[in-house]
Amino acid sequence: MNIPSLYIYNSLSRKKELFVPINAPFVSMYVCGPTVYNEAHLGNIRTFLTFDIVFRYLTHLKYKVRYVRNITDVGHLVDDVDFGEDKIEKRAKLEKVEPMEIVQKYTNNFHTTTQLFNLLNPSIEPTATGHIVEQIDYIKKIIENGYAYETNGSVYFDVKKYAEKFNYGELSGRKIDELLEQTRENLEGGNEKRFFADFAIWKKASPETIMKWNSPWGEGVPGWHLECSVMSTKYLGQQFDIHGGGMDLKFPHHECEIAQSVGSGGPQPVKIWMHSNMLTVNGTKMSKSLGNSFLPIELITGSHPLLEKGYSPMTVRFFFLQAQYRSTVDFSNEALQASEKGLNRLLSSFSTLEKINPSAESTFNIQALFEKCEDSMRDDFNTPVTIANLFEITKYINLLKEGKHTISKVDLDFLKDQYSLFIYNILGLKEENESSNSELTNNLIQILIQLRNQSKQNKDYSTSDLIRNELNKLNISLKDSKDETTWEFN
Ligand code: AMP
Ligand code: ZN
Repeated sequence: MNIPSLYIYNSLSRKKELFVPINAPFVSMYVCGPTVYNEAHLGNIRTFLTFDIVFRYLTHLKYKVRYVRNITDVGHLVDDVDFGEDKIEKRAKLEKVEPMEIVQKYTNNFHTTTQLFNLLNPSIEPTATGHIVEQIDYIKKIIENGYAYETNGSVYFDVKKYAEKFNYGELSGRKIDELLEQTRENLEGGNEKRFFADFAIWKKASPETIMKWNSPWGEGVPGWHLECSVMSTKYLGQQFDIHGGGMDLKFPHHECEIAQSVGSGGPQPVKIWMHSNMLTVNGTKMSKSLGNSFLPIELITGSHPLLEKGYSPMTVRFFFLQAQYRSTVDFSNEALQASEKGLNRLLSSFSTLEKINPSAESTFNIQALFEKCEDSMRDDFNTPVTIANLFEITKYINLLKEGKHTISKVDLDFLKDQYSLFIYNILGLKEENESSNSELTNNLIQILIQLRNQSKQNKDYSTSDLIRNELNKLNISLKDSKDETTWEFN
């Protein structure tokens, strides 16, 4: 099969490389998925969108892609370190529910969000808790090879031993000696480790821990980095084509994945490491813990203080695609408003196209214009250049409508076909009128909240309860705080 050449930036070699799959036409891709302890924020969406584009474009090139994106439902500790509480258990305590209820709630929520932004489902979505047996087996292999040791019911990866033979830090460029200063944990809780850079691959569970499993080392939970090595190997083999994730996962998460795979006796696991850059707010990474993150619903309704109005999911999708995935994107109202206009312009060309009648001959080369779109996608998925090329095509569409250019029947069919291929299939944009619907929804709920407050003031509790209960039936819950009532979808 003759597939056109595609160049992808490899974080490992630090350059763009010609993409040659291990076993064409098959392509194996693993992307680190969400930790399901809270709602995905807009920064998370950007990363998943990057790999949605990769998945869509590889499929467009006629590769048969197996795309694995995991769900982290255990083992990810607070602050991404090796001590302290599991993020999911912590949340479960806070919400006074089972950890698995948290997992279910936020997995469902994640799926609703991915649909909202028109992200395609992966081929396999494995969970960490569903692969405990495999993780225990993997740890045994690492221990057998001499790259891990047990201390007090936990198992740590022996980074010093590994570094004697292999290059720990090859992906992130970090040097072990320099890591000492950067390892906060070293000061706080690393006394079980032989060496400060060692990391847990099995963590002893405390008596209060709910989610824990039996193992040769006692009751415990797998380390966070382990699940990705285990599940990628299980579904894609010891060596696979593409591994993706956000830039912030390069170290320690992905560096540790390489060490685990090699330490278990496997080869260098990944041919191309891809890292998507961060969504920032005034130059700072968007993150839940920094309190500068917005949730999709806040964005759509415009209910976040940083937002001047609500924006539709497709506007946001388009906004992200107007930057190359390796650059940071800084959130701004002006940029989103410009994206809204730009997207409308692209989509409105569909109706213009319907009004164009073919002529005997074309006065411009439409194939060449779409070839430019392909070229930019094949240059490390350069969506902003592709979008610029599509805008160029919309100019021709307008010139055709004004009669300043002509197009043959064959070329017109090609134009319609390719235009919709790029916009709908490759960039994954779609028509929507949800934006006005969501603003309307928010406004209507605000009216109901006012009515409920009035009835409470009038001590008409049957009406106020009725409003709350009926909204609940529509999966909308009201939250009362001291000075205001807010709402959210359940
Ligand atoms: P988490 O659920 O925290 O494990 O994160 C899921 C994915 O979102 C990871 O690939 C992160 O690298 C990515 N991510 C987190 N914050 C941001 C951000 N501000 N911009 C882009 N990607 C992010
Ligand atoms: Zn991962």
